[in-house]
Order: sequence, then C-alpha cells, then structure tokens
Amino acid sequence: MDFELSDELIAVRDVAREFAEKEIAPSAAKDDREKNFRGDLVKKMGELGFYGTMIPDLYGGNGLGFLAMVLITEEIARAHSAMRVAINMQIGPALTIVQFGTEEQRRKFIPPLLSGEKIGCFAITEADAGSDVAGMRMIAKRDGDRYLLNGSKIFITNAPVSQGGLVYAYTDRSQKHRGMSAFYADWDQPGLTRKPIETLGALSSPHDKLDFLTIAHGMLPVANFHRITLSARASTLGGIMRPICFAVLRLITSSNLVGCSTGRSPGLAPLRMRSTYVAARR
Ligand SMILES: Cc1cc2nc3c(=O)[nH]c(=O)nc-3n(C[C@H](O)[C@H](O)[C@H](O)COP(=O)(O)OP(=O)(O)OC[C@H]3O[C@@H](n4cnc5c(N)ncnc54)[C@H](O)[C@@H]3O)c2cc1C
Repeated sequence: MDFELSDELIAVRDVAREFAEKEIAPSAAKDDREKNFRGDLVKKMGELGFYGTMIPDLYGGNGLGFLAMVLITEEIARAHSAMRVAINMQIGPALTIVQFGTEEQRRKFIPPLLSGEKIGCFAITEADAGSDVAGMRMIAKRDGDRYLLNGSKIFITNAPVSQGGLVYAYTDRSQKHRGMSAFYADWDQPGLTRKPIETLGALSSPHDKLDFLTIAHGMLPVANFHRITLSARASTLGGIMRPICFAVLRLITSSNLVGCSTGRSPGLAPLRMRSTYVAARR
C-alpha cells in the first residue's frame, strides 16, 4: 500500500501551511488573549476552498476528499487550535446537509457555509447527553408547516457569532435514534435565550448555552439516510473546477509552487517544503 501523499494533496497541504503561517500564526496569541473571533479568517479560508473538500462541486465544494480536509485541518491547527475548530464548524453542518438534507436545503444552506459567508454552528450536546447523543431530551413538535423546538443545548461553538445553526431534536422518541432529526434554526426567533460559556483554552472560539422554545425551519431526517450520488455533471464540473480552484489558491496566497494550478506536476519548491515539514515533525 502506498502511503505517500499525491502531488495534488501535497499542493493542498502547502497552501494551507502557507496560509496558516502568514495569516493566522502572527496574531494567534493576541487573538486568543483578547478572545477575538476571526470571522475574516473564516471567510478567507472559505475563499481558498478549505471547507469544500468533501462536498460535491454542485454545492460549491471541490471534491478533493477526506484526506485533503485532514491535511488542511492539521496545518491550521498548528498555527491556532481555535481556527481548527472554526473549520470544523463550517464543514460539519455542510456535510450533514449533503448527506441528509433535501435538494432545496442543500442548495440553500451549503454554499454560504463553504464560502465562509455564513458562520457555521451545530447544536447536539445537552447537559445530560454528550457522548450518548441518543440520550438527548430536546423535542421538536410540528406546528403547521413549521416545528417548535423545546429543550436546552450546551457548549455550542460559534452560537454567539452565528445567525443560526443545525439543532438536533427528537420528533418521535418512541422510534429511538430513528426518531431524531436536525433543524435549521435562526437564533433571532422569539423564545430562544443564549448564555455565554467561558472555556479555559482556545478563547477565540466562542460558545453558548442555548435554551429553546422557538421555531425551526426545514427538517433534516437524520435517521432516514439520503446519500446523494455524484451525477455525471458534477464529475465534469469537478474536472474543470479543480484546476481553477488551485489557480485561485495560488493567486491569493502568492505561492511560488510550481505546477500548483494543475495539482499534478509539483516542482522543487513543494518538495523542499515537504522535506522541511517532515524534518520539523521528527
Ligand atoms: C470546547 C468545546 C466545544 C464544543 N462544541 C460543541 C458544539 O459546537 N456542538 C455540540 O453539539 N457540542 C459541542 N461540544 C460538546 C462535545 O461534543 C461533548 O463535550 C462531547 O460529546 C462529550 O460529551 P460530555 O462532555 O457530556 O462528556 P461525557 O459524554 O459525559 O463523557 C465523559 C467521559 O466519559 C467517556 N465516556 C462516555 N461514554 C462512555 C462509554 N459508554 N464508555 C466509555 N467511556 C465513555 C468519554 O470518552 C469522556 O472521556 C463541545 C465541547 C467542548 C469542550
């Protein structure tokens, strides 16, 4: 089995490293000390395509794959752990909606999460339900064409800096995990109270406790798995968009990587950076 990274993945990793070193690391300590949430950096990472590696092109992703996401996350985390959390908050809801959402929900919610235009957020954990997600108590009751959420969520990252997020609740407890769904809720609905939570580290990643008695939009039936299959159109788009994506990455970061725009033929610069990286990690 070949464990070497492909040229394309090396190029992705190097772009992420350069971004982390230039844009995140210089102010990481100050940002954390001052509890600065860096929405501007979330947006820049979206422009670089960092959140779209596991999302089909059809919804604004680039389809570079799971390993690309791991490499990007690793590089960003090296510079500032809180920014690694920020990546997770964009990818998590987008991936959930790809897998379980309707076509309309995918087209509406995923592109702004991938571009960083909307700050991502998901609310699963409750005071008595952490690892045991099925132990959650929050319920969602149908009220005409909408749902009313009733319950409480805790440790919700980005709740203070987002406009809404995915909230998980039971529509039918008797069905156990099959009766659980996710809802997209706006935080400005009446009936929601938010209380900030202090953490000991990663201070530029903000958290809230959320108490709901509020209205949610569409339902994602998380237990009824609707995985989409990549259409021929999406694959064709991928072939076109991937080189464009890399060309843009290269432009924005002023990278001097040779062959980055195709992701196929790296020159000496990325190889040198790669050996420096391996040496640094020993
Ligand atoms: C900084 C931060 C940000 C977070 N952001 C979010 C967020 O954005 N959205 C969200 O929904 N949640 C969020 N969480 C919550 C996080 O997902 C939970 O903390 C996590 O699921 C663990 O739950 P818990 O804290 O209740 O611990 P518990 O579930 O009580 O677990 C405590 C310990 O027991 C172990 N354990 C639990 N069950 C078992 C078992 N059956 N067998 C053996 N060991 C077990 C666990 O591994 C752990 O070590 C965040 C938490 C933190 C600290």
